[in-house]
Amino acid sequence: MTHNITLIPGDGIGPEVTEATKRVLEASGVSFNWDVVYAGADAEKKLSSTLPEATLESIRKNRVALKGPVTTPVGSGFRSVNVALRQELDLYACLRPCKIYPGAPTTFSDVDIVVVRENTEDLYAGIEFEAGKPETAKLRQLVSEATGNEVREDSGVSLKVISESASHRIVKFAFDYARTYQRKKVTAVHKANILKFSDGLFLAIAREVAKSYPDIEFEDRIVDNICMQLVRKPQQFDVLVLPNLYGDIISDLCAGLVGGLGLAPSANLGDDAAIFEPTHGSAPKYKGQNKVNPMAMMLSGVMMLRHLGENKAADKLEKAIAGVIAEGKNLTYDMKPTGAVGTSQVAEAVIEKLQGARK
Ligand code: NAD
Repeated sequence: MTHNITLIPGDGIGPEVTEATKRVLEASGVSFNWDVVYAGADAEKKLSSTLPEATLESIRKNRVALKGPVTTPVGSGFRSVNVALRQELDLYACLRPCKIYPGAPTTFSDVDIVVVRENTEDLYAGIEFEAGKPETAKLRQLVSEATGNEVREDSGVSLKVISESASHRIVKFAFDYARTYQRKKVTAVHKANILKFSDGLFLAIAREVAKSYPDIEFEDRIVDNICMQLVRKPQQFDVLVLPNLYGDIISDLCAGLVGGLGLAPSANLGDDAAIFEPTHGSAPKYKGQNKVNPMAMMLSGVMMLRHLGENKAADKLEKAIAGVIAEGKNLTYDMKPTGAVGTSQVAEAVIEKLQGARK
């Protein structure tokens, strides 16, 4: 079977890591029909839009996309392409497995945590009030009348929005994931002791959903406490489920535990579409240098293969990547300070391992 996949090369180092990933995916024995479309700063230059309608159409049609990182210019006024994609396609779950492969540059040897981040609301809902604006004055007045609390006149305000429905679907997603992939425990992360009506709601829903999964252990942790525990004893955690902002921060912390951004894959999943991409950004200073690590994007490709039901190919490709890491010869600068190789050499080493496995 040939899979129709939308391919978005992205900006900066995006095209290089995408090309390396495309090569190893094709070498895994699965057949693909790539529909190459554009998003990001280069798309803005070529097509006068950071997120052309043709790109959204292609993802809606194929339902699966492999995406390189894109550049979001700071302060230029245009919307983040990633936030727009998640909202347009309702990609409500961000999945970030953080697993140590032997040979990776890490302090620990046995971390295997899956971060499940809610992707659509919380402080990312985009509901903000700028200091000094008339609408901010209205909000201050409402707060004063409704609660008796005074908001300082020179304040900017961002709303933290947590709904019962979005909390329910993300926690259910985390438990379903745990069941499918034989994970033992789900930990809900929150700050419900302080944020009673937002994180408190998230926690109450998590406890409720957990009752339907008696085969999976459930616990909850306060976000500051779990940060400390993650850096001291990460082995105690399995699947973490978090509201959007904590998910963003904790997934970078977990990426650090397993060897850095060059090894951190991710998937943005909804009921109708899925986008697989590395956690890292477009690292513009390394553009075109054949220097950066393509493994985060390759591991995102492994996640895509599993999503497509190509489990054998996924296992083979993951094993080939793990083999290259364990061997320690063909690694990029972030994993090997001296004698590092380039992006395309890593792809060749992975392909060699795949071919060796076939012999
Ligand atoms: P970044 O992740 O692009 O780079 C930060 C640093 O991490 C790099 O300078 C490099 O030292 C290292 N790094 C990143 N990827 C690496 C790799 N594959 N191999 C080795 N080292 C790697 O973060 P940034 O500099 O904050 O952001 C650059 C641009 O990327 C911004 O425009 C930002 O908005 C965008 N961004 C996009 C995405 C996405 O598209 N999913 C995600 C994050 C950031």
